[in-house]
Amino acid sequence: MSSNLANNLIDTARDLGDRPAIRLHGITLDYSQLRRAAGAVAGDLQARGIRPGDRIGIVMPNVPGFPILFYGVLMAGAIAVPMNPLLKSREITYYIQDSGMSLVYGSHAVGDAVAKAANDVGIPALLVGDQGPAALELLGDPLEEPVARSADDTAVLLYTSGTTGNPKGAELTHANMVTNAATTVDTLIQTSPDDVILGCLPLFHVFGLTCGLNAAVKSGALLTLIPRFDAEVALRVLERDKVTVLEGVPTMYSALLNSPDAVSADLSKLRCCIVGGAPMPVEVLKAFESQFGCEVYEGYGLSETAPIACFNQPGKPRKPGTIGTPVRGCQLRLVDEAGNQLSDLTAPGEIQIKGENVMKGYWGRPEATEESIVDGWFSTGDIARLDIDGYYSIVDRKKDVIIRGGYNVYPREVEEVLYEHPAVSEAAVIGIKDVYLGEQIGAAVALKRGARAESDELVEFVRERLADYKYPRKIWFVSSLPKGPTGKILRRNVEPPADR
Ligand code: AMP
Repeated sequence: MSSNLANNLIDTARDLGDRPAIRLHGITLDYSQLRRAAGAVAGDLQARGIRPGDRIGIVMPNVPGFPILFYGVLMAGAIAVPMNPLLKSREITYYIQDSGMSLVYGSHAVGDAVAKAANDVGIPALLVGDQGPAALELLGDPLEEPVARSADDTAVLLYTSGTTGNPKGAELTHANMVTNAATTVDTLIQTSPDDVILGCLPLFHVFGLTCGLNAAVKSGALLTLIPRFDAEVALRVLERDKVTVLEGVPTMYSALLNSPDAVSADLSKLRCCIVGGAPMPVEVLKAFESQFGCEVYEGYGLSETAPIACFNQPGKPRKPGTIGTPVRGCQLRLVDEAGNQLSDLTAPGEIQIKGENVMKGYWGRPEATEESIVDGWFSTGDIARLDIDGYYSIVDRKKDVIIRGGYNVYPREVEEVLYEHPAVSEAAVIGIKDVYLGEQIGAAVALKRGARAESDELVEFVRERLADYKYPRKIWFVSSLPKGPTGKILRRNVEPPADR
């Protein structure tokens, strides 16, 4: 039997074809239309010679074109590689080369960067409108059924840094995606076709992809999209579409709460709020609940776990400040530095995860895969504690990923660009606590002897080369950076100047 994730769309379109699926700016696509458009994309891909297992890039904001292309790629049996539309062309080039992509779709708004990257590598770029690639329906024969895939075949490559180096493609299989969408629907948001989910999390990220898009398709609910998060727009859509399910990262919740429109907003239809991706401050959670009268459930997951692994699950006692208990089909344990399971249950340890949601591995990187998954246990790099009731709380993260407003920024990537500046001798990029964003990007830089550079000039240098959310807003100069015994720079020992 085929395990293609796209079968969820086929089933829902068959049973609930005239129910609304995707909405943006008052235009609504129903499930039959979504299925037909995805089938047209799949037929077109086949006509272009795309084979099952080929990698196809998608660089789109949250617009109807994204779900159409995503499910179209899956229907063709190919592997979807969603990318952040804020990426600059050199970053897109990296993903194209690393994944060995055959073709990349981009929305018109980011067309220049996508076309340049594709051209540099020599693959085709197809630019499509926000409402979807309507013109493609004229090409080829639309596909009626998804190409058969087995459970262990890869469905999606999601780029993430893991503990070291450049972003790696987490290979999520059809089984990973199918089970995590089902877990989200059955145990967390419990959606029916009458539900409306706010699509404010980016669909290129695993949280928005699984818990927003794939969960909506699985349950026949409506996903009402916001191209890019904005609190005022979100409040208007929450009211207008009588949204019942809100999913977001903590900074979205605080932005909604602090919006001047919060007091007058009528969110009486909202019945379920889930939060994850970064620690949710308990104060924000409580204030949100008292303002909007809806309980907020915090959970935890990673790109590598498709993502949901642990959650405060409706129907069980809720513990704000914790990430709850392991979800269905998933086990967690805490290990010490040597990887041994902790015997002292009160001590903090690194979270390891085993289950049907754990990725197959990192694309094209067998060593990184072997390092991160041993006997089925995936090492997360996150440190947590376990309480007497079996609830986990995140203490810290072992890895140095900076999470700025819900976006992951990998210090090494920013440092690499700083090192490209002729005056820079050493650079360490660190997260600086920020009330609104959670973390802001900062960089300590040591200049080459006799070289001169101004901090504004370096900020501008990086800003021109990387997506806006990645460049350091604060750069300060030091004579040298702290280092470990092997000479490796110790980012953790870098202190931001006291006045910042
Ligand atoms: P990503 O792969 O982008 O989904 O990022 C995964 C990382 O987000 C995890 O390794 C954690 O460090 C962090 N994270 C996710 N959920 C939470 C949470 N509820 N509390 C603290 N950190 C979290």
